[in-house]
Amino acid sequence: MASPSSAAAPERAQTLTGPLIGGHVSTRGGIHRAVDNAVAIGAEVYQTHPTPGQTWRPLLVDEIVLQQYRDKVADAGLEGRHYLHAPYLINLASPKAALLKQSVASLVHYMELARELDAAAVVFHPGSHLGVGFDAMLPQIGAALREVVERGGSDALLLVENSAGSGGCIGCNLEEIARMVDASGSSQVGVCFDTQHAFASGYELRTDEGIQRTLDELQRLIGFEPLALVHANDSRRGLGSMVDRHANIGEGEIGVEAFTLLLRDARMRRVPWLLEVPGDGVSGPDLQNINRLRTCAGRETLAAPR
Ligand SMILES: [Zn+2]
Ligand SMILES: [Zn+2]
Repeated sequence: MASPSSAAAPERAQTLTGPLIGGHVSTRGGIHRAVDNAVAIGAEVYQTHPTPGQTWRPLLVDEIVLQQYRDKVADAGLEGRHYLHAPYLINLASPKAALLKQSVASLVHYMELARELDAAAVVFHPGSHLGVGFDAMLPQIGAALREVVERGGSDALLLVENSAGSGGCIGCNLEEIARMVDASGSSQVGVCFDTQHAFASGYELRTDEGIQRTLDELQRLIGFEPLALVHANDSRRGLGSMVDRHANIGEGEIGVEAFTLLLRDARMRRVPWLLEVPGDGVSGPDLQNINRLRTCAGRETLAAPR
């Protein structure tokens, strides 16, 4: 694939207010390629898995690649717009000491990477208590979050993402997310709200009333201050399905109307919206999905690159 130059990139609207909108992009070929991929889809914020999500392997960024990355970020005006998604293997609620230790080490590595890459935040899934129960593991989770922030040496936020729900999962409701953030005692620990995961775990987002109930609960339990990011995904499965299956915006069970309603709320517009949708099924979030979300947000659409 040809490297998209900034001249071929979709035009960026400078004047409209509203949430920054972007998507998850590939780092294939090096971390600097993520910036090209973000520019090519008109993303104002972007997320990556700097290392494959199913491995513990750390990323050692080569100096030359790092310089290329920094140059591209500066050219694209995307400073501080990068979000890192930590590996799925992380489990801060594991009763197994070895897995906990590895999870903390992995998150510390990600916080170090965030500093190196000038990323805004590290997003992670809190994991599963493996049958022991949330209450029993909460003190451990709080201590682990504190340790990651202290050892990470980065100003980046550490964002707990809500889960879709499945055996022993933690963080599939806002109450557990709130208690984890509280238990950390750190203002650097915040929240990423994934629309598909929320819908799958039973939060109705298709009606005004359902959205108000969900956002009121968010306000009451967590407050909007720790909310730092939205993962904007439609759902292949129905309300309360507990299944993590993302769909393109408007092609799933949540639907365009829900995103329009959610984006009408000023508290939700304050934070960036990041797509993690399949796109054409190969490349992930694309310009078309970005434009659908921009339309929901009342922003003008971007022209396709020529
Ligand atoms: Zn995630
Ligand atoms: Zn997500």
